[in-house]
Amino acid sequence: MDSIKKRTYDAIVIGSGISGGWAVKELTEKKLKTLVLERGRDVKHIQDYPTTMKEPWEFEHRGQMPLEVRKANPIASRCYIFREDAAHFVVKDDEHPYIQDKPFDWIRGYQTGGKSLLWARQTQRWSALDFEGPARDGFAVEWPIKYDDLAPWYSHVERFAGISGNRDSLPQLPDGEFLPPHELTCVEKYFREQMTKAYKDRHVIIGRCAHITQPQPIHTQQGRGQCLNRSLCQRGCPYGGYFSSNASTLPWAAKTGKMTLRPNSVVHSIIYDEKKQKATGVRVFDSETKQMIEFYAKIIFVNAAAFNTNLILLNSTSNRFPNGLGNDNGLMGKYVAFHNYRARINAEYEGFADMTTEGIRPNGSYIPRFRNVFKQETDFLRGYAAGLYTSRYRVHDNEAIGLDLKKSLEINNKWSNWQVNSHMMGETIPKESNYVALDKTQLDPFGMPKLKISIDYDDNDEKMVKDYIEQLTEMFTVAGFKNIRANDSKQAPGLDIHEMGGVRMGKDPKTSLLNAWNQLHACKNVFVTDGACMTSTATQNPSLTYMALTARAVDYAVKELKKRNL
Ligand SMILES: Cc1cc2nc3c(=O)[nH]c(=O)nc-3n(C[C@H](O)[C@H](O)[C@H](O)COP(=O)(O)OP(=O)(O)OC[C@H]3O[C@@H](n4cnc5c(N)ncnc54)[C@H](O)[C@@H]3O)c2cc1C
Ligand code: SF4
Repeated sequence: MDSIKKRTYDAIVIGSGISGGWAVKELTEKKLKTLVLERGRDVKHIQDYPTTMKEPWEFEHRGQMPLEVRKANPIASRCYIFREDAAHFVVKDDEHPYIQDKPFDWIRGYQTGGKSLLWARQTQRWSALDFEGPARDGFAVEWPIKYDDLAPWYSHVERFAGISGNRDSLPQLPDGEFLPPHELTCVEKYFREQMTKAYKDRHVIIGRCAHITQPQPIHTQQGRGQCLNRSLCQRGCPYGGYFSSNASTLPWAAKTGKMTLRPNSVVHSIIYDEKKQKATGVRVFDSETKQMIEFYAKIIFVNAAAFNTNLILLNSTSNRFPNGLGNDNGLMGKYVAFHNYRARINAEYEGFADMTTEGIRPNGSYIPRFRNVFKQETDFLRGYAAGLYTSRYRVHDNEAIGLDLKKSLEINNKWSNWQVNSHMMGETIPKESNYVALDKTQLDPFGMPKLKISIDYDDNDEKMVKDYIEQLTEMFTVAGFKNIRANDSKQAPGLDIHEMGGVRMGKDPKTSLLNAWNQLHACKNVFVTDGACMTSTATQNPSLTYMALTARAVDYAVKELKKRNL
């Protein structure tokens, strides 16, 4: 009995990444004794960032991954982050196998902090137009919330996380509670001017990103300092200059004395009590002791990242829910979607030969969506945003090393033309035929059924790739950029690392799994606030929206708990 008491909490959070970190911060601030279950090893802020202060020459392979490692990890190797300085935060292919019914590059980070250590920190709000998208354009189901429901929660998370950005007054990309923005380069400013002259609706803005460009008291209280623009963020930042669970939400929650963080705890399933008609706890496989152990709580937040959240819920079967917890309509795992990152375009600009960049900017610039924003104007639905990055490099002898390299840099003392690079970030349409499911005949090393992923592009995506290439080529031409090279990489879905859906929000329990408060329609004390809850995908980088949805759902859950409704 004592042992059960010891394993009983007010709340359980599954996963310690971006959304789980927010869940535990909000729950513990509201005085709930909260257990965070994390499948990976513990990573403590600063002390567990082994590469953070290394110089380039201190890496055995100068940052590259050795060929045999790349051969053994074809999936992870396709992601730009899988390099010598950060590979220890990326899941290796053979450690956590899954089934690719169709090719899908599933990039994961299994440790305290999840992918919050690795992310590129781009953080844009969704707009009213995005939440209205499915209803307006007739796909997926209607969102049960509007922008105004989430706006105060965006502000709440932005102030705490620290988001830098410029107030651009664009209806398709609402402004937030911004710290001072980074600066556009001279070429980006020039491109912005050319776009404003040539088009009414195409804008070039500085990226909005989770970097502390001017610390506020709320950041120093977290022990975080100003970003020094080292651009080595994927190693973990010793100054807490960017937002990660490890630097921000988890230590904040720990300070309340209400958080217990349990690494090496692979959640197998959620326990459902048929008499009480609610979830009472979770079953955990302890990856160190190899024992199954149960923990209990009044409310459960599932924040294992979109596909693992689907996996856990589908694996949570009972007499009442033979197909997965809350899965009365059989739609769990379906209507998953992602962002279409297939196309890129590069060019050069011969102007500004006397200018270069000063220091490093851990941010890019951004072209917000301009297609089909206010009305349908193309033969595909929805649209795309575009990342933009401009830079120059010192021309040198590529073959030279050591002193010869130094000499070649000195002798030439020449800079390349400005390089202009962009990639598309397209919205994809969630469809029933894109799904994840369990293969119960194949177990992973932790005794969990393997996840089968069956996701593909469709005709809408193909048209969007074509349009991005055409439109960006035109825009680059208008700006006088030279040597324009566009490319459709044909990469499999996944490398956007923005997988979403499967446990979507909606108004009707017949066609959705979660209500407007991220509560399972059929099991009210279980909340899903990571990417699994997303009804549609918009074009924005999604994590800021997961943070805001999480904080909003916790606020609701705790009020309901107090009213004894859960
Ligand atoms: C290289 C890279 C660049 C990115 N850039 C951006 C960007 O610029 N902007 C943006 O918005 N997003 C970006 N993302 C995506 C972003 O990282 C994710 O959207 C975000 O981390 C999702 O938060 P989460 O809490 O759902 O998942 P995660 O942060 O992945 O956390 C999930 C946690 O759950 C744990 N877990 C999983 N299964 C279980 C289980 N069974 N039991 C217990 N624990 C479990 C995992 O170990 C992990 O710690 C990027 C990602 C990567 C890798
Ligand atoms: S760029 Fe800023 S946040 Fe990133 S590692 Fe450097 S100081 Fe830290």
